[in-house]
Parts: sequence; C-alpha cells; structure tokens
Amino acid sequence: MGSVKPLGWLEATMRSQGNGITGHLHEIRQETFRKTWDDRASRSQNSDWWAYEQQAYWFDGLIQLAYILNDPKLTSLADEFVTKALAGQTADGYMGGWPNHPYQNTDIGDVYVQGQLFNALISYYEATQDPRIIPALQKGLLHIYANCKPVPDKDGKMPDAWWGGSCNWPSASHIIQPCLWVYSKTGDQQILDLANLTFTATQVSSRNTGWDNAPADIRLPSLLSGTEDFRSMHGVDVALLLRIPALHYLVSGNIDELQASIYGLRKTDNAHVHVHGGLAGDEPLGDPTAVVGTETCEVLEYCLTKQTLFSITDDSRYVDDIEKMIFNTFQGATRKDGKAIQYFSYPNSVAQVYLPDASLEVLCCVGEWGRIYPNYVNKVMWLASQDKGLALAGYGPSSVSAKVGAKNQSVSFMETTNYPFDENVHLAMTSSESVKFPLYLRIPGWCQEATIRVNGKPLSQSLLPGRMVKIERLWSKGDSVDIQLPMHVAFSRWDKLSVAVERGPLVYALKIEEEWRKSGERTPGFPDWEVRAASPWNYALCLRLCWTNGKISRRRLDNGKSEVNTGDSYFKVNRVQIAEGADPWANPPIELIARAKKVDSWKLENPLPAVLPQVNEHAAPLTPDVPQSPVLTNNPEEEITLVPYGCTHVRVTYFPVTPIGK
Ligand SMILES: [Zn+2]
Repeated sequence: MGSVKPLGWLEATMRSQGNGITGHLHEIRQETFRKTWDDRASRSQNSDWWAYEQQAYWFDGLIQLAYILNDPKLTSLADEFVTKALAGQTADGYMGGWPNHPYQNTDIGDVYVQGQLFNALISYYEATQDPRIIPALQKGLLHIYANCKPVPDKDGKMPDAWWGGSCNWPSASHIIQPCLWVYSKTGDQQILDLANLTFTATQVSSRNTGWDNAPADIRLPSLLSGTEDFRSMHGVDVALLLRIPALHYLVSGNIDELQASIYGLRKTDNAHVHVHGGLAGDEPLGDPTAVVGTETCEVLEYCLTKQTLFSITDDSRYVDDIEKMIFNTFQGATRKDGKAIQYFSYPNSVAQVYLPDASLEVLCCVGEWGRIYPNYVNKVMWLASQDKGLALAGYGPSSVSAKVGAKNQSVSFMETTNYPFDENVHLAMTSSESVKFPLYLRIPGWCQEATIRVNGKPLSQSLLPGRMVKIERLWSKGDSVDIQLPMHVAFSRWDKLSVAVERGPLVYALKIEEEWRKSGERTPGFPDWEVRAASPWNYALCLRLCWTNGKISRRRLDNGKSEVNTGDSYFKVNRVQIAEGADPWANPPIELIARAKKVDSWKLENPLPAVLPQVNEHAAPLTPDVPQSPVLTNNPEEEITLVPYGCTHVRVTYFPVTPIGK
C-alpha cells in the first residue's frame, strides 16, 4: 500500500473525504465510532454487535485513506485505533467484542464482526508491515478454531456466535478472506482448516436463513442453476456472499466454486442492477425501476466482490462494473464537499436528504462509504501481474511505483488524465535503467475504437473491448503510452420502456437546479441537508426508437445492455471549461444537450412536505414513478442538458420517451 498515489481530481476528492466524514466520524457519532473496538471493556456485555461491525468498516477506510494520502492527522488517528484495538485481545487470543464471555453474548455476531476487524488490521499491515498484526490475527483465528468451530449441530444449526450481519449466519463466512490472508503469511494448517470448515458449512442449506427469513442460499447447485436466487434478500449481504465460493476456490481448486460465483454474479446483474451499476436494493433486492434505490453499503460490497473476481479471472469487464459504480452510484450518493451522504440513492429523485452519518439510526453505510475510493486506489487501479509485470485496470489520475521484471527493478508511471470525463490517458515511465516487463492495459467493454501509441507509434495488435491488452517490451526512462478510449452515447431501456443515457463509463442525468436547506447541525461543520429540485424535471426525451410490442421482455443481456441504439445523433456533446483544480464533480466539465418535452401528467402527487422524511428502511422516494413510454404530449420541444449522474444530488436518470415532432 502506498505504491499507488491518487493525483488530480482523485486526490482532491479523497482529501475532501479525509477532511470530511472519514476524518471526523468518531466525532460525528461517538457512541459507535469511539469506545467500541478501541475500548471493548467499557461496552456492556449485551451491547449491540453492529457497533463493532460499523466501527470496523470505518476503521478500514480510515487506515487505507490515511496511508494512501500520507496525511499525518489521519495516520496518527489510525495508529491510535490499531493500538487500542490490539490491546483488547485477551491473553489466550480472543479478539472479539465480548472479552468476558467469548461467543456467549446474548446478542449475535461475534465471528462476523471479528472478520470485519481483521480486514481493517490486514489493511494496516499492508500499509505499515507492523509486526504486531500477523501474530494477533493468527491467535485470534486459532481461538475461534479451538473454541467455536463452524460446525452445524445435528439439526444443521450453526453455533450462535457464527450468526450476525444482517442476513444471519452465512454472512460470517466472509471470515474466509482473513483466514486465507493469514494462511498465506503463516502456512498455519489449522487456519486453513477453519476456512475449509466455514465453506463446508455454507453448503448446508437448511439453516441458511437471511433477511426477513429469505434464504441466503450460496450452495453450489443453487448458484449454478438457471434460476435467480436472491430476490427479497438483503442486497448488501448478497453482494458480500457472492465472492465466498470464488475465494474458497483459491484453496480447493474446485472450478465449480469459481463458476458458482461467476454465475451468481451474472444472475444478480441481470435481475437487479441499475444503469449506474449499483444494485436495486433498498434494502431487499428488487427490480431496477426508477423508484427502487441503492443502499450505499451495497456499492462497496459489490465492488469488493467484483474486484475479487477480476483478480482471480482476469476478466476486466468486472472493472468496467466497478468504475461504473464508483463514478456514478457512489459519487451520486455523496455531497461533493465529502461531508454528507445518502443512505439510499434513487435513479429518479427530486428531493433528498444528505446526512453526515447517512442515517440517524443505522450506521452501516457511512463506514462502508469511506472504503470505496481507498479500495479502488489500492486494489483496482494498478496491480502486479503474475508474470512480474504491471496492469493498469482502473483508470484515473495517479502514479505508481513498482518492482518488475526478472530482477525486480524499480519503475514508476505517472498517469495523466481527466478520466472518466476525458477519453485520453497519458502514461510517462521512469526507471533508472531499461527493464523488460509486460504492461497490461484495460480496454473497456464499451469502447470499440480504442487506440494505443507507445512513444507515438500505434500498437499493431488488436484491441478487443472487454479485454486486457499486453505490451511486452524493453521499457526505458522517458517512454510514453497514450491510450485513447473514444466514448459514444448509448441508450439502454428500463422499466416502463424508459431510457437511460450513458457515454463511456458515465451515466447521464438531467441537470436540475438544486435548492439546499440545512435541517440541523448535530456536529459543528457537518450539517444535515435537504435538497430539492428547483427547476422543471418532468421531461421526456424526444427519440425515434423501435418499440417491440410496447414492452420489453428482458431488461439486460449478458453484455450488460439491451437494445442499445446509436445515440450520438441525438446529443450534442458540450465540453465546459472549468478552472484549473476545480472539482469536476461539482462543476461538470462535460454536458449532453438533447431535445425533450415536458410531460404535464408526470408530477408530484402531493406537495413536498416542509420537512423531508429521514428515509431509512423500505422507504419509497418522494418522486413519482416514471410514466409508461411512449408518452404523447402537445408541449413544444425544448433543449435540455444532461450532466454526469455523479455530479448530481437530485436527478432524473430513467427518462420517458416521446416521439420527435408532434
Ligand atoms: Zn448500509
């Protein structure tokens, strides 16, 4: 960690998160983010397990952000928390939240929350190589192995301490990940056995009950079947569970396990993913309609699962999906000052609440939120390849230092780009001597006409969309690579024959004037916000599309799109000059100009309330559902402006369609 550095807009955005929520969450919500892992003794015996979960999420994001940015204030906060968290381990190795009664607390979640703490401590080790971490994790896992084996009883029920997470038992199976990491460092066979027993338990079906007792079924036959498994289950847990079989494949070598994760993800994508890449799950998984939102937690867990699958399979289309979620869903759920976020975000939403803790009640999302960019920088953008080379998978302004080639020589690359707003990426290479190694570059699945030049000379090999291209050569200081990724407007069709607009990795939404109002300030400098649309939003796009009997049978195909038409002819691309260093998420540098008509019947059913409800669980948005297309109206055509979804706080993304002209 620390070998990849964000630059440009990416660094500025991450610093605003450090100065915003990530650096201050322990002040914003002390009862959860202070005196939890860092002071277990002060918590009552029956205290809730989720405070441990939530502090661990925050912790992981804080540690990674601190060491990526080398920010002394954040690193000292991270160091202090790690020292306190390690001090809470008992002499015999128990690392959980209830040191006086391990695995006995009347609530549940002991193993689940330990797995989350272990993830954070692994991040700390990767940043610092602190010698305390591996022995602490090894002892902690061995304590679970010795005292609370993941073995179902004769009725198929797991020990209570293995229940937890919001979908009950199977969620704790994510401890396989820290088990594999510690095993890779220690070779401890008992820890490998713990991982194997845990996975075996996930294949016992009868007791796998999740959210509202919907089955949390990650048995291989079920994932490999043609039918969709996860409707009504909690989206966050589904996002997490889908990586478990692929992780276990790394030790078992059983290809069915890898295939199960791949199939499970594909089925979930087909049934539940919005145009912006996020799951339709507020909280249970549902259909990706204009009024079904995304829980911000889901973005992080779905990204983690897709980055796991990318690192195992090399299928770079997973990175297409990750970029989409980060640059659209995640940015769209974030106030651009990094000081308030949404719990649920909706594709169509004309009034929203943004809070510094995402929710007054449930604090899962705010901790997970802070892990998203650090994970992207550390585990997606630049990666080591197995053949001693380097892979650039996720684009964005950055630099990387790495050891490559047969003799592990040091090289660095500077990546200059305004991606995802721009199509051009420039790489400049530095090394003290020439070194032969392969450089892999991702050609996004949406890009049909990519070109790559090395030192100005076009690469002759074919550049297939959705693949990594390998450039193996003797690299020398001063070498440059120019990657051009032409972007075109594409449509996809959604619920009620509505249409969504994409261009490259960005989804576009209607540009709406925003009226902000402070609704409180529980922590100085971190207000609660309401934002409402202050300009008309009820537009139908004027398009001439083919209608298939007035309905669609399948929303999305395997390539992630259905019925994509060429969209360039309908839109004028408007590049906006923004000031040097200005935040492109707050000042969109690119707009699409389109023709549209107002739809008078598409309006609020009731005036917005004076105080917006603090939406939490199962809440519907205040915005009426998109009307069935095609919409007929006598209103005149107008010019409207679309901006990147991630630049908006209130928005229309799924547009009704009306014929051109009368
Ligand atoms: Zn959440």
